[in-house]
Amino acid sequence: MQGNDGDDGEGRYRVDIPAELVETIRKARHVVVLTGAGTSAESGVPTFREAQTGLWAQYDPQELATPQAFQRNPRLVWEWYAWRRSLVARAQPNPGHAALVELEQRVPQFTLITQNVDGLHQRAGSQRVIELHGNIARTKRFDDHVVVEKWKETGEVPPRCPTTGSLLRPDVVWFGEMLPEPALRAAMDAATTCDLFLSVGTSGVVQPAASLPLIAQQAGATLVVINLDVTPHVSPRACHLCGPSGVVLPSLVQAAWPVEEKGDA
Ligand code: NAD
Repeated sequence: MQGNDGDDGEGRYRVDIPAELVETIRKARHVVVLTGAGTSAESGVPTFREAQTGLWAQYDPQELATPQAFQRNPRLVWEWYAWRRSLVARAQPNPGHAALVELEQRVPQFTLITQNVDGLHQRAGSQRVIELHGNIARTKRFDDHVVVEKWKETGEVPPRCPTTGSLLRPDVVWFGEMLPEPALRAAMDAATTCDLFLSVGTSGVVQPAASLPLIAQQAGATLVVINLDVTPHVSPRACHLCGPSGVVLPSLVQAAWPVEEKGDA
């Protein structure tokens, strides 16, 4: 299966969804979707690579998103995340997020697994979201990972837990850290039991999330990869739909459950 995608010559993106895939979606009993930073790109949330602009251009994300980086320079890491949190707060869900809400309503069983920490799927209306990498809006103690909701603004950066005095940090999974066990287990279970798996806007290099599409495919699911370009390392046997997820996902849903365009009559 291969989608036929591209610019229609008038600046609009055209996506042809293979008829075989339309049938597969319509018949699917359990659809799993794995999303990555590309899904939020059209909402104006930069991917890690794109986030290195302006003030932050001189830093490697690996040097900002690790426990060691926080120990070396907690103020720098806190401020980088405060900047990213402000970007996320201003962002709005895009048509790709909306299409996934509709897909959840159309199929008998649906599981959305996200590597994103921006909460945009929930804001769009997705009901069941497994957050593999945490959520940037939450804060936890550096010492023991307990979530903290309130603290006094004393001017100290980062602030401290009012109960234990531990420095506070964002509740996201940093490079080199373990994923939350219940979320990973639920994601693995979904991957092994689904009949259709969509991998959307992820480079497929950050483990263990990158293994999920292959686990699903090995268990017999149809694998569809939606990305700006073909990422063959995900799986050469996958159906690749190239294009922005804010265009491809609505096209996919529209192809499976066509809604008549309103005419003038
Ligand atoms: P990534 O940056 O490694 O890859 C993004 C992928 O999305 C690329 O393959 C790119 O070609 C593709 N892409 C870009 N724009 C797209 C679009 N409009 N439509 C479809 N595809 C598009 O991101 P990743 O694979 O998610 O892994 C990086 C890690 O960084 C993740 O673990 C995630 O937690 C974290 N992160 C999250 C956010 C967020 O929450 N929005 C932002 C930055 C980084």
